[in-house]
Amino acid sequence: MTMADGQMALFDIPPSTAEASKKRPGSAPSPRSHEGRGLSSRRRRQRKSPLRERAFEVFAETLFPTRCAICDAPGTPLCPECTRRLPYIDTLLACPRCGAPFGRIQCTECNSVLLAPFGYQEPPWDEAASAVILTDEARRVVTTYKDQGERALARPIAAIMTRLAPPSWLAARPAIAFVPATVAARRRRGFDHAELLARELSWAMEAELAPLLSPPRRLDQRKLSRTARIQNMRESFSVLPGATAPRTVIVVDDVCTTGSTLFAATEALRKGGAETIYALTFARA
Ligand SMILES: [Zn+2]
Ligand SMILES: [Zn+2]
Repeated sequence: MTMADGQMALFDIPPSTAEASKKRPGSAPSPRSHEGRGLSSRRRRQRKSPLRERAFEVFAETLFPTRCAICDAPGTPLCPECTRRLPYIDTLLACPRCGAPFGRIQCTECNSVLLAPFGYQEPPWDEAASAVILTDEARRVVTTYKDQGERALARPIAAIMTRLAPPSWLAARPAIAFVPATVAARRRRGFDHAELLARELSWAMEAELAPLLSPPRRLDQRKLSRTARIQNMRESFSVLPGATAPRTVIVVDDVCTTGSTLFAATEALRKGGAETIYALTFARA
């Protein structure tokens, strides 16, 4: 699960459907340096005039050239060599149920004993897959994208995820949903990392983007019993008012750690009408 977002907020701003559809983000890399990425991105977003924005991008690119998230080589947010060397998960060896790297024959990671603390006997989705193992290199890609605001990484990350997604999923013509960020995380970063990733994935997979879930809502866990805590976690997502989930959905996030955030998102999508749900993440802890 990506508990990487930290504590859940009590409410959040729903992702804008209009904003989340249609237009593919521009191909210009976002300006950054390894010291000042967040600031430069924020400044860039405040610009209204396209001409001024472009001029600013050129200026910022000169000052803070785009660099590889892993090796720091200039010119690209993720260089071909580092892309090649990422710790890819072999889908022929991985567990199709939970995406564990070596669980194809017998998986030790999606059994009822391990899932019991989260209130499950088995994962609530149909199948899950992750593109890479969350090594230090993969983590650098994720943190540079998410926490340092390098939005230009969304496209190469989505390209990797598309390449590694099981072909049978794509053959089912799924819609692409995502696990929305908390209001606090979205405000802190200035964008919803999973939403942008889903938008890029919908282009790469030629699939419909479906912003179906409201941002997570969770009560203060401290005073709750264990059962109430599990229930609280399981109900932290819901389908946006008036939305109906398509029949087949791929729900995406950047990282799967224990799975519980994606479990909760899956449950909400199921309640919202989705029949077949696949969970796809870039990295798996
Ligand atoms: Zn590199
Ligand atoms: Zn498994």
